[in-house]
Amino acid sequence: MILDERLLRQTLDLAAAYLRQLTERPVGAQTTVDALRAALGGPLPDEGANPARVIDDLARAADRGLVASAGPRYFGFVIGGSHPAALAADWLTSTWDQNAGLYVSSPAAAVVEEVAASWLLDLLGLPPDASVGFVTGATMANFTCLAAARHGVLRHAGWDVEADGLQGAPRVYVVAGEEAHVTIFAALRLLGLGSRNVLRVPADGQGRMRAGRLASVLAECPGPTIICAQAGNVNTGAFDPFKEITTITHDHGAWLHVDGAFGLWAAAALALRDHAAGIELAHSWSMDAHKWLNVPYDSGIAIVRDSEAHRAAMSATAAYLVQAAGQERDSFDWVPEFSRRARGFAIYATLRSLGRRGAAALIERCCGLARLMAERLQTAPGVKILNDVVLNQVLVRFHPPRGDSADAFTNAVIARVQRDGTCWLGGTVWHGMAAMRISVSNWATTEDDIERSAVAILKAAQEEAESEA
Ligand SMILES: *Cc1c(COP(=O)(O)O)cnc(C)c1O
Repeated sequence: MILDERLLRQTLDLAAAYLRQLTERPVGAQTTVDALRAALGGPLPDEGANPARVIDDLARAADRGLVASAGPRYFGFVIGGSHPAALAADWLTSTWDQNAGLYVSSPAAAVVEEVAASWLLDLLGLPPDASVGFVTGATMANFTCLAAARHGVLRHAGWDVEADGLQGAPRVYVVAGEEAHVTIFAALRLLGLGSRNVLRVPADGQGRMRAGRLASVLAECPGPTIICAQAGNVNTGAFDPFKEITTITHDHGAWLHVDGAFGLWAAAALALRDHAAGIELAHSWSMDAHKWLNVPYDSGIAIVRDSEAHRAAMSATAAYLVQAAGQERDSFDWVPEFSRRARGFAIYATLRSLGRRGAAALIERCCGLARLMAERLQTAPGVKILNDVVLNQVLVRFHPPRGDSADAFTNAVIARVQRDGTCWLGGTVWHGMAAMRISVSNWATTEDDIERSAVAILKAAQEEAESEA
């Protein structure tokens, strides 16, 4: 029988139990790799087992190795939670088990993605006829957009890169800010453009590309050129200056790609839109839905102004594929994958549930909470906020009361906060200095969560100072 209703109800109970204690469980994992291997490992059994038993055992064995990253006091990396509508739609997505590759394999998935795409373009103020691909994350969105860019700039130079590859092609110049995210380089490697030849544009103190320097870098690019800019620096949250960048790019004739994994969502919020001014003039944009839109992993979005370049870079055809004859949308024209999960359902349900206002409020609330966190931490002696808190990111450095190294002290405070479990956050190195990184990206985070976390962080700093005294 396909329906095992008892199993699904048991699973609902397990899920509900998890969510019920999500806000209060220690935020970090509570176990070791050895303990997890012991609990979950062993040889593949010869005989099968009852699914109810397997699921129960799995949930029990995994529990202490789970990270409460969907909870409201997880501030590590840039990780969103799951909006209730997103989680519910994601359950249905697994139940329906649609192959979203082709219209014919799931007309509902195809239309939902078409609608979600148009809502996203509207919400973000991007060209309504831009094409959209739903991928696994911003890494694959960067890959997809840069593949379209590679097609676009080489087509302009009279070269068909999909047919003839890069061997013998005109040189493609790639320009990126000094602070470009590592996944830009991963994408460039996959595209045969390499990472070593990328021309880097220096950044200012907040990690923004210096537009004035872009012009002189572009003077060294006499051929097809792709520029990678960024909306939302992964440490500071800062935006590259898009107004200046788009003017310079336009004069040069280059393709401008924007990595906006989380920062692009600022375009949905009136209070933040100024940061993103000019962004709509770029040629392609990558972003995540699993970060700030708070849909479950994994979910990213690739957006390309020149839909012909996008399709040419991604489309696959074969005789056995019953492709849509006319107006219908075949997803595999817009993404690297062929068969794929119907990620659009969760995005659609979240956008429908939040509405334009709710989406803006979610983004603005996180930014307000980041500012509150910075204010609370700043009050303590020896605490320094390293960035302008323009978005949802806060960089904090801790100076020890005596003359010890602030790098070692900051890292020790981070480790202490992680052990304490009230909240979780990680470290980074910013301009050669160790720093604590705080990212507020969850719809469920409240002021109280910030207050509690700030207290826990300052207590950790205090205890660390005492332990070293
Ligand atoms: C997170 C992030 C990425 C990578 O996104 P994934 O969803 O992890 O693939 C790329 N760029 C920036 C700026 C990011 O913050």
